[in-house]
Amino acid sequence: MNPYQFLRHTPGSNCGDCGWPTCLAFAAAVTKAGVRADRCPYLKRDQLPPELLGGENSAAPDALEHGEEDRHTALAAYLRSKMQGLDLSSLAPRLGADWSATEPDLLCFSFLNRPVRLSRAGVFLDGDEPADPRDQILLYNYVSFASAGHARKPGKSWLGMESLPNSIAKIRTLATYCEERLAERFSARLEQLSKLCVTDLAAQPAAGQSADVAFIVPVLPCVPLLLLFWEAEPEDGFAAKVKVLFDQHVLDFLDLESLVFAAERAADRLLELDC
Ligand code: SF4
Repeated sequence: MNPYQFLRHTPGSNCGDCGWPTCLAFAAAVTKAGVRADRCPYLKRDQLPPELLGGENSAAPDALEHGEEDRHTALAAYLRSKMQGLDLSSLAPRLGADWSATEPDLLCFSFLNRPVRLSRAGVFLDGDEPADPRDQILLYNYVSFASAGHARKPGKSWLGMESLPNSIAKIRTLATYCEERLAERFSARLEQLSKLCVTDLAAQPAAGQSADVAFIVPVLPCVPLLLLFWEAEPEDGFAAKVKVLFDQHVLDFLDLESLVFAAERAADRLLELDC
């Protein structure tokens, strides 16, 4: 059984109760490293082969057993290994990526307006391998999800995190690592925020929104993010507020964990550019 087959037996809620950050990471640990499947209390046990519910494999790599960072590294390595079987030429148009017959193992696209070169050998952002394995996971997932074949292009409808399935645990994470940081930094500095969005992130102003500032930020070619900013109203007791919305089809391209991390990286980039 491969991780994606196992994934179908999980609820896909990425709740983290098993000790892994996502159901996919847990599926990789079970099927590739012999970790016991019953660490997830929500599995459909009666549909699983008994060997997956048996004893823990003593040969399980420590990387999968200890530490969140090691788990991320192990998942990134697994996702990189998955690239071997993909037909990158057919995936490129679905991803909004560039592909050339002269370099058939390479996809080129942008992540927050920075160049990505992703090949079967690895992934490079701005010419360097990302030091944080979560960046690698995000970029590999973008390619892997599109390979599932049902990736729909972004439409015209936007959804809050709370409207995406199984997202309750992620709403607070998104607020803490993205929305609240941006609201605090750019309160009373909307001109600067607008300048950075347009100049450095290639964002487009979004029409028809009620916010004081609204931009569509192309995080990845098929993963736009709608950034809404309401300025503080001290006389009414309101602090500045940011809300991030996602395209209705965004889960065709990323899982929730990677999606929240993509929004966090958008905030990181704006704060870094503002220094
Ligand atoms: S415990 Fe939660 S995160 Fe882990 S596999 Fe089960 S549903 Fe997914």
